[in-house]
Amino acid sequence: MVIEGGWITDIDSSRPPVPEGATVIDVQGKTLMPGLIDCHTHPAVVDMDVTGMAEWSPTYVAARAARALDGMLRRGFTSIRDVGGGELGLARAVEEGYFPGPRIFYGGKQLTQTGGAGDWRSPSRQVYDANYHTPAIGVICDGVSEVRRAVREEVRRGAHHVKAYLSGAVDSPSDRVDSTQFSLEELRAMVEEATAANIYVAGHAYTSRAINRGLECGVRTIEHGNLMDESSIPLFHEHGAFYVPTMVTYHALARAGEQGHLHGEVGAKLEDVLDRAIGALELAHRSDLKIAYGTDLFADMHDQQLEEFVLRSEVQPAAAILRSATVVGAELLGRSGELGVVAPGARADLLVVDGDPLSDIRVLTRPQENLKVIMKDGGTIKNEL
Ligand SMILES: [Zn+2]
Repeated sequence: MVIEGGWITDIDSSRPPVPEGATVIDVQGKTLMPGLIDCHTHPAVVDMDVTGMAEWSPTYVAARAARALDGMLRRGFTSIRDVGGGELGLARAVEEGYFPGPRIFYGGKQLTQTGGAGDWRSPSRQVYDANYHTPAIGVICDGVSEVRRAVREEVRRGAHHVKAYLSGAVDSPSDRVDSTQFSLEELRAMVEEATAANIYVAGHAYTSRAINRGLECGVRTIEHGNLMDESSIPLFHEHGAFYVPTMVTYHALARAGEQGHLHGEVGAKLEDVLDRAIGALELAHRSDLKIAYGTDLFADMHDQQLEEFVLRSEVQPAAAILRSATVVGAELLGRSGELGVVAPGARADLLVVDGDPLSDIRVLTRPQENLKVIMKDGGTIKNEL
């Protein structure tokens, strides 16, 4: 394989002549594969106290996010989708090499209705700080015109997608997991504005009631979906939508809860969704949905980013999970052929693995030992060969 200027230019099993002046890496019979893509991350949500963090200095948060990004790259993730909190500045810092990290596809703030999952005020708090540059995850918008403005603000800041809460969340202070959020009018306006800018809407949703409203309005990716039932399957197929499960975060939160790091109401909501996650994935796999790899970890939990492979292997074969973390992720990002494949014309985002992930997916969960080479855009992040 020949790499030039960050791109794969030639692959030839008959050993192409080595271009003059090239650096040669002999992979010694190990597995060569594309860099991984995590389609649901929050590197800028840097503390378990998410509501307290919303009042921190954004530069301090960025410094802590840098460490999370570096860790992701060293686990083999060369591209990520940030679905809340990360924005233009973080993506640019990586792009220009100030922070080592994966390429970031970001959506900026998550759109939330008043009292929705991204409204992090405690129930007794009236004031909402609308300053965009506070490290809060959400932006509150109510009614069609505020929703349109919120989408246009994200488009103005270069968003690759717009993320919206279609239902309650586990980590939010005042809403219910089984609620639906935003009116159909608001959702349609959101999709219309995103589509106008050639981007798409990603929707956070747990129940089929919330998922189906989103899909019917044109939301293109469904995040989490733990409480999904059969009624959502035809809608995914009809709209060509993607499903992004994030099982590992619930397991990580449950462990944090055991150590006393969770508020009481969060722990109770967690129980509802933890056990159902694997059933939703099994349903999605059996129904041949387009499933992307997502983790949804934050604060100090990023080191469990590769555990999602192990959790999914209970119901999916290794090849399907690897596709989720490569080609399907690339398709979701609108970068088919450029990311998630080892082929001429693709970016040289590459891993050399000691072991065969197709026969044992767990080899990927020990990157320090088993990732011998990590390359992003043809640049060497790690080379032990
Ligand atoms: Zn998330």
